[in-house]
Amino acid sequence: MTAEIIDGKAFAASIRGRVAEEVARLKAAGVTPGLAVVLVGEDPASAVYVRNKGKQTVEAGMHSEEHRMDADTSQDALMAKVAALNADPAIHGILVQLPLPGHLDSEAVLNAIDPAKDVDGFHISNVGLLGTGQKAMVPCTPLGCLMMLRDHLGSLSGLDAVVIGRSNIVGKPMAQLLLGESCTVTIAHSRTKEIEAVCRRADIVVAAVGRPRMVTGDWIKPGATVIDVGINRIDAPERGAGKTRLVGDCDFDSCAAVAGAITPVPGGVGPMTIACLLANTVTAACRANGLAEPEGLTA
Ligand code: NDP
Repeated sequence: MTAEIIDGKAFAASIRGRVAEEVARLKAAGVTPGLAVVLVGEDPASAVYVRNKGKQTVEAGMHSEEHRMDADTSQDALMAKVAALNADPAIHGILVQLPLPGHLDSEAVLNAIDPAKDVDGFHISNVGLLGTGQKAMVPCTPLGCLMMLRDHLGSLSGLDAVVIGRSNIVGKPMAQLLLGESCTVTIAHSRTKEIEAVCRRADIVVAAVGRPRMVTGDWIKPGATVIDVGINRIDAPERGAGKTRLVGDCDFDSCAAVAGAITPVPGGVGPMTIACLLANTVTAACRANGLAEPEGLTA
């Protein structure tokens, strides 16, 4: 079997198109959705993410703010910035770019964000709402994975799903979302015994590990759908001295030979994450103004 490639780039473009339509509807009702991104320090990868987020926010017709703070910013100064954005009626979504410099308490910062503006879905209230099956702001990466799975498979009800990874930002919320779709969910992690056999049972495998090409074709049930969240930079001497390239947590070639469908890296889950951030900002703006929520942009 040769898997169908799930084109995250094209799907993300269609989500951004839907977001732009919703932004136009909101603007006609007198509301311009606004997203504020706070970046502390000079981490170059984070700076690139933040720039992309800002660019795509503006392209979707939304109001975008980027708040840069020095690497030695104090906890108090960052908390004051979050409080000011919480109080700003032009801002419907707040994202504090992670990781924060080591001297800052990330948990305290994330939990200081107004849950209604928490477009990353990391506030403890949103975690609790998602965990109890209530209307939450859903973390962007798992939301993007869910959208791709629904688009590809339709109903997920009754399917066996294995999520590899139990982080708060990907693995756990992904598992909650799949449970919400009535999948039979297993969460695998670094202590899981016979993980290959566990994965081989799954109709859906979501890999969110951070280990290049860990999942190989012999872990995959023929015809299964594989969502590769991993983003790993590896040496690529074939491209020239000192060159690198991105690979996922799945060994693409061997998995694609067995799976029914698979997301590539790059061009799979990655583009969906920012698209879902925009979708969450529109959802937050609708909720804040008592307007109907867009179809197909939430969990
Ligand atoms: P974390 O490091 O927070 O979590 C990794 C998880 O993988 C942990 O639960 C860990 O288990 C598990 N794990 C580690 N080694 C193994 C192993 N040998 N076998 C089974 N499980 C293992 O990572 P994140 O969840 O933040 O991210 C995961 C990957 O997804 C990374 O590559 C990251 O770059 C990528 N990512 C991509 C995004 C996107 O937009 N596409 C967004 C966010 C992340 P344990 O808990 O037992 O230690």
